[in-house]
This record gives sequence, structure tokens and C-alpha cells, in this order.
Amino acid sequence: LWQNVPLAPPDSIFKLTAAYKADTFEQKINLGVGAYRDDNDKPWVLPVVRKAEEIILNSVALDHEYLPITGLPEFTVAAAKLILGSDSTALSQGRVTSVQTISGTGANHLGALFLSRFYQFAENKEIYLSDPTWANHPAIFNNVGIAPVYYPYYDPKTIGLNYDGFISSLKSAPSGSIFLIHACAHNPTGVDPTREQWGAIADIMLEKEHYGFFDCAYQGFASGDLDNDAWAVRFFVDKGVKMLVCQSFAKNAGLYGERVGALHIVSPTKEAAERVKSQLSVLQRSEISNPPTYGARIVTLILNNTSLFSEWKRDISTMAGRIIDMRKELHKILTEELHTPGNWDHIVNQIGMFSFTGITPEQSKALTEKAHIYLTVNGRISMTGLNRNNIRYFATSLDAAVRG
Ligand code: PMP
Repeated sequence: LWQNVPLAPPDSIFKLTAAYKADTFEQKINLGVGAYRDDNDKPWVLPVVRKAEEIILNSVALDHEYLPITGLPEFTVAAAKLILGSDSTALSQGRVTSVQTISGTGANHLGALFLSRFYQFAENKEIYLSDPTWANHPAIFNNVGIAPVYYPYYDPKTIGLNYDGFISSLKSAPSGSIFLIHACAHNPTGVDPTREQWGAIADIMLEKEHYGFFDCAYQGFASGDLDNDAWAVRFFVDKGVKMLVCQSFAKNAGLYGERVGALHIVSPTKEAAERVKSQLSVLQRSEISNPPTYGARIVTLILNNTSLFSEWKRDISTMAGRIIDMRKELHKILTEELHTPGNWDHIVNQIGMFSFTGITPEQSKALTEKAHIYLTVNGRISMTGLNRNNIRYFATSLDAAVRG
């Protein structure tokens, strides 16, 4: 049995973490993992999450019954407001179907599965993904029989957005194509379009009747402000672009392992939204029956209580602020102290958890082999792996790798 099962390679990010853990070098640094670390390189449970957990623990009324198939209603309603805005017309018109999912990955999967069943594909059953994108995207769409194709996104020459390439791809794709769009803090590049560029992207999407598959895994992490980071999503919904949004609370609430997320599908009418909901329920039932309770209860408390919500916003600023400080510090050491060859402005211009350093795969490998600094070979670093204790070691190692 299983003679025909080939051995699959291990996941590159998890492999990197395993190699880091096995390394005994004292100054080793892990810049692979996309999870927040505090200034002492420790995972951070948000103080507001601790408070919500205490409330849950002390609540005798809570049991361990199943949630409804589409999730905790107080959660999905509040989550929709968080991403679409409490003044959203689509929401007040009842045109949004929201379903609780297994974090952002589950939202991507359920959205992909729904489209694979019900979307009237332009020509081929395919989705346009940014080049590059989160490593899991192609696998998620392949799993449901939607083939990934790529649109230009990143320009290695400017270490910024390949705006013209993106625009011409939107224009040349068959009408009604699906485009996956990172709502903010693009993973892996940290490069987002400007508001003006978003405007032009939305105009073409409307004109060509493209469908927007928005993935929002970092709301709050890009700028430190939840509303600001939801700007593009709200703008596209208001413009009337056909779209759905995948939402994750892994990063902004630090609830990685609790798997809290939601899928929001915007429909043209309330009646269509109801039919969409009925089909999402059928799909969800066969896949997971019903989503998990714990993380959703935490997020529900935070979103529906004014003082917890304000506290959450402060916690988010703490995380986003530390990342921005690290960007500034790294930029300063490279440019003012070490005079490292090249332009490093992208370190401060990029946003979110990740930064694309622009170094070559050879330089990345040299960092790992010579300096015990673990990062993906494409030169992406997770800024949260840097802190006051290791940033100088990282900067000098990067400087040495760049100089060869
Ligand atoms: N989309 C993107 C772009 C991501 O970077 C991530 C997290 N790495 C996710 C979705 C989903 O993560 P999770 O399932 O942990 O919410």
C-alpha cells in the first residue's frame, strides 16, 4: 500500500524554523516566521486578549455546545463591521454574507471552493495571483481546481510596485477574470499600491468586470490603524467592484493557533446574499461542520466592548510601532553607520510584518550559513524577528553579505 505516494518536500517556512531551533549558535536569529515577537524575542499575548480570556473563564453561562454552521453570529457581524466599516452601505443593505472560518487560510479555502462551484469563469478556471504572493495561495486554489496564473506585482529594480505591469495585466486579462489582491501589507514584499494607484486599479476592475478576491491577513499591522488598513477594501466595495474578503485575526489579535477568521462575500442584492449564504452553509457543513468557539469568543468580546476595543487598538499600535522602529533603526545603521552599498530606503518605505530586502538568493544563503540568520531565500525578512538586542548583529551580517 502507498507505493504510489511520493515523499513531499517539507514546508519551507516550517523547515526554516526547525533548522533555527536545532542551531546552537548564541546569536542566531529567526527572520522566517510571520508571527509577532516582542523586544525580547518572545511571543506576545496581547493584554486585551488576557482580559477577554478572564471574562470567558469566569462566565458560568458559557458551554461547549456546537456553534451554528456559519459561526458565532455576534462574531461575524462585528468582524464584518471591522473590515467593511460600521457605516458600510453594503452591510446596511444586507448584501454581505459573513461566515466564520478556520482563520485566514480557511477563509481563502472556503472562498476558493465557493468560486470553483459557482463563479462563471471567463475562459479558463483560473485566478490571477500577484507575483510573488503568499506561498500557500497557489496550493489553496489548485486544491479546488482553480489554476493559478500570475500578474506582475514586484519590480526587483526599484524594490517597489511594478505598477505598469499590474495595470497592463488587469487590462489584458479576459473580462470577468478573478484577481487575488492583498488588502494591505502585501506578503511577502511589504509593497502596497498608493491610494491613487488603488483608484486606477478599481476603475479597470469595474470596466472589465473583474472579480476581486481580497485577502486581508494584516489589518492594523500595516499602519497601526485598523480603519486605515481597511481603506482599499472599503473603497472597492463602495465603488461596486464585485468581490469577497478573507479576514484573519491571527496577526492583529495574536491568536495564531486559535484559528479565528471570516469570509465576507459582497453580493449585488440582499436576496442574492441569502442564496450565497445557503450554499456557503452547505460547503462549510461538509468540510468542518462548524467552526471553533474559543478564539471567536475572545474576538467577539473585544469587538463588542468599547473599552476592550480601545485597549486592542493600543496593543496593535504597540506591535506596529515596534516594527516601524525596527525599520528605522535598521535603515539608520545600514545607511549612516555602515554605509552599506546600495539604496536601503525600501526598508522604511515597505509596510507590515515583512520586508523584501532585495538581496540575492546567494546573499540570503550566506546570511544563514555564515551568520546563523534564518530567512527565506527570496530575501524576505520578518521584521518582528529583529529587536534591540540583535539588530546590530543583523545589520553588520547583512552588510558583510552584501559586500561579499
Ligand atoms: N493570507 C496571507 C497573505 C497571509 O500572509 C496569511 C498568514 N501567513 C494568511 C492569509 C492566513 O493566515 P492564517 O490562516 O494564520 O490566518
